Amino acid sequence: MPSKRVIVVGAGLSGLAAAFTLQQAGFKVLVLERLNRPGGRVQTVRKQAYVIDTGPDAMTLGYREYLSLIDALDLRDRIVLSSPVMGVMRGDSIHDIDPRRPFTAAFTQALSWRGKLGLVAGAMKLRPRLQGIDSFELVESADREDPTSNAWDYSQSLFGAESTAYLIDPAIRLTTGSGARESSMLGVLGALANWTAPMINLKGGLDVLPRAIAERVPIIYGAEVTRVVDTATGATIEYRDAQNLTHTEEGDYCVIGAMYDVGCRIWEPLANLAPDFGPRLKSVKLISVSLGYNALCRSKAYAIAIPSREYPDLLLGFLQHNKAPDRAPPGCSLITFYTDTLAFDVYAEKTDAEIEAWAAGHAETLFPELKGHREICEVTRWPKAGYLATPGFWQRSRGLLRALPDQTRVQLAGDLFGAGSMESAVRWGKRAADRIIANVAQQDAIILGGDAPDL
Ligand SMILES: Cc1cc2nc3c(=O)[nH]c(=O)nc-3n(C[C@H](O)[C@H](O)[C@H](O)COP(=O)(O)OP(=O)(O)OC[C@H]3O[C@@H](n4cnc5c(N)ncnc54)[C@H](O)[C@@H]3O)c2cc1C
Repeated sequence: MPSKRVIVVGAGLSGLAAAFTLQQAGFKVLVLERLNRPGGRVQTVRKQAYVIDTGPDAMTLGYREYLSLIDALDLRDRIVLSSPVMGVMRGDSIHDIDPRRPFTAAFTQALSWRGKLGLVAGAMKLRPRLQGIDSFELVESADREDPTSNAWDYSQSLFGAESTAYLIDPAIRLTTGSGARESSMLGVLGALANWTAPMINLKGGLDVLPRAIAERVPIIYGAEVTRVVDTATGATIEYRDAQNLTHTEEGDYCVIGAMYDVGCRIWEPLANLAPDFGPRLKSVKLISVSLGYNALCRSKAYAIAIPSREYPDLLLGFLQHNKAPDRAPPGCSLITFYTDTLAFDVYAEKTDAEIEAWAAGHAETLFPELKGHREICEVTRWPKAGYLATPGFWQRSRGLLRALPDQTRVQLAGDLFGAGSMESAVRWGKRAADRIIANVAQQDAIILGGDAPDL
């Protein structure tokens, strides 16, 4: 592969996956990152002996491309299995459901017998519809989306009211950032296709992967890209450094690994490719609150599913000490709660101390054994955690994907075309890199065949 130069915008997982793939293929790469650290939305904070993932939290063995990057970076020994136990919140109680014990799970009080029968009947109807669904490339299943139906109505027609309220809506909240009424019906298929695979995680914190890539690829931090201009033969990228000085980089190609709205601002053609896509996008907005206690809570669950019917503001919970052994010191608990997207504006107005008191109220009602043991709190506000896949989102997303020109010097990475997740970010980053690699190979073939490159 000739030494072509690629400028990558953004050192999030998608930009880093693209840069690493291109570097491995022999390209010269340079990553420009606005912040002073790699990872983007992947962020791990270390506080006393707690390791707190303040952005993304959960992943499964279905994260195929993420895991192939882990292997390429020799990080396989970091992978740990998280507790498979699911905590289902109903009233002020948590019901632990352990899938390894189906007989005991069948007797859970989280659902009535009628609800359980509805669940089994719905699962049988749903099974054939899950064929071919890839949670991380839901755009490929856009023709199965009914843009007039939301996930709540779709789930009710399959599982009935009780299972929808106490299992499906919470599962949608776990994967999308808001409840089933805000989600496309495709969200039901997406949530059930991947998230039934075993949950895994990374020892040391989720920022281990972006940091490992960042050690291998050149990155300029504090570099905010303001403009990308592509021509038939390359791309010019302008950025401002931390001192507000303007610089220009020339590349044969450019990968944009930042979110869609940033892409539209810096690369002019993007907004016009699918004009009805951007104006109808809604952001996922979350606040994560992590509380460390020097006592153990009784639940063995990692993920806590929370129904919006009973707790509209409280999106979901994670008992982090059941996710990976190093997230809390021995004998301690680390509990994370998130606010729902619909509640963000109200909670964003509150102080960190008020948000801590709100979250601690929930934690200590559920687990009275923790009262008097709280020792740390970390609050992180995410006004743009991702995009909400509302009804019709996937068909609009497919429209955008089809409108993107094949032969262009600028490739989009980012997590836009799968439900926002670390796996979709890695996949679309690698895909952007593969398209550039294929483009160069195609040109070489033309040159070797004696024809002029045709872009
Ligand atoms: C609170 C929260 C919870 C989540 N939970 C999960 C979860 O449990 N599981 C899961 O798999 N995923 C989860 N996600 C989603 C996951 O974090 C993202 O899908 C993924 O990290 C996106 O990676 P990315 O590279 O596409 O974008 P980003 O991580 O946003 O990276 C984009 C990068 O571009 C940089 N940038 C932006 N503008 C410019 C510019 N003009 N010039 C230069 N650089 C720029 C940004 O600073 C950033 O570093 C969660 C996200 C959040 C916020």
